[in-house]
Amino acid sequence: MTEPLFREEHALFRETARRFVEAEVAPHHARWEQQGVVDRELWRKAGEAGLLLTAIPEEYGGGGADFLTSVVMIEEMMRHVYSGPGFRLHSDIVAPYILHYGSEDLKRAWLPRMARGEVVTAIAMTEPGTGSDLQGVRTSAVRDGNHYVVNGQKTFITNGQLADLIVVVCKTDPALGAKGTSLILVEADRAGFARGRNLDKIGLKAQDTSELFFDDVRVPITNLLGEENQGFRYLMQELPQERLLIAISAVTVIEAALEWTIAYTRGRQAFGRAIADFQNTRFKLAEVKTEAHVARVFLNDCIARHLRGELDVPTAAMAKWWLTELMGKVVDTCLQLHGGYGYMTEFPIARAYADARVHRIYGGTTEIMKEIVARSL
Ligand SMILES: Cc1cc2nc3c(=O)[nH]c(=O)nc-3n(C[C@H](O)[C@H](O)[C@H](O)COP(=O)(O)OP(=O)(O)OC[C@H]3O[C@@H](n4cnc5c(N)ncnc54)[C@H](O)[C@@H]3O)c2cc1C
Repeated sequence: MTEPLFREEHALFRETARRFVEAEVAPHHARWEQQGVVDRELWRKAGEAGLLLTAIPEEYGGGGADFLTSVVMIEEMMRHVYSGPGFRLHSDIVAPYILHYGSEDLKRAWLPRMARGEVVTAIAMTEPGTGSDLQGVRTSAVRDGNHYVVNGQKTFITNGQLADLIVVVCKTDPALGAKGTSLILVEADRAGFARGRNLDKIGLKAQDTSELFFDDVRVPITNLLGEENQGFRYLMQELPQERLLIAISAVTVIEAALEWTIAYTRGRQAFGRAIADFQNTRFKLAEVKTEAHVARVFLNDCIARHLRGELDVPTAAMAKWWLTELMGKVVDTCLQLHGGYGYMTEFPIARAYADARVHRIYGGTTEIMKEIVARSL
């Protein structure tokens, strides 16, 4: 149903992504779920296959393609619920911060290595004491000659165990509140940086999510992204794309769940007939089909707006809350139609159920999204 948006080059890219997922992700994902993190080697392989930073200009080592390649990547990973590799965050959230706000030196130093999968990245906003309210960030960066000295703690950071480079949201002028926020790149090999444990989660089992600690970490002032104290503005500019990416993931899973459930209920028998023949099943699937269609039309409209540079903050917030809430409802319905097998993690619907929950929390909770929409009224 994304056909109207895609062109031939996206179909070709989809073939490459699909082959990669079949060869390099599918055989290993269950093991990564056990170990709580994907193999480092996967990142290099994805880089070699040209699957990272596809929407970053070629002059910085990226694929030079448009945002639709990012959409394809999410669709090809999420239609099997392969949520372990944190490619989306690396290619479509962190890389744009460096591209849009980094100095020429920073872009040339990091983006090509990120595209090759040699460097894995993360973004650290959330702290133990604050998540929704980013004005409350306490991690500080104090100027000392040509350096910033960073102190603080972050938590729930995706790619936290593997990251070599982290965009850290800090306060450079705490007296100014949100207006004293800056974004600073911190390399993981700097003295004073430490990773906490890999956090144990109810879903996203193959994705590493960590605490990070900064104890007098000295970074050169040239690691600042953009201007000092402008970080909050940059976050507000980039968050619509992050929220759209989460919405794309939600709709991909909704559509996949429908397909799995149609197939499963046709094959499963009870009381001498296929489960799919009970009126309740037929009506539930009819509801899901309708919801999936409405979701797709809305999502495609948001993607089209984003491609034109017209996706505003409230519309991205609407897509994020509404489509992720719908995802939760749909996977619950579809799991129910699988019966006990739906609760077994070997079935994708079970993993989709566990993974779906966080979509309503990260990237801004449903409640915060509604606040954003309400403020725009
Ligand atoms: C698996 C996972 C991966 C993550 N990855 C990252 C990452 O890579 N980088 C990163 O920085 N963060 C990451 N996060 C953190 C995530 O973005 C935050 O958890 C989220 O923004 C919510 O913040 P919080 O947990 O502090 O909840 P809180 O802000 O404490 O919110 C608790 C509850 O209060 C509600 N609430 C708060 N304020 C209001 C309000 N004004 N009105 C109504 N209700 C309100 C919230 O909606 C929520 O229901 C991740 C989280 C998870 C679980």
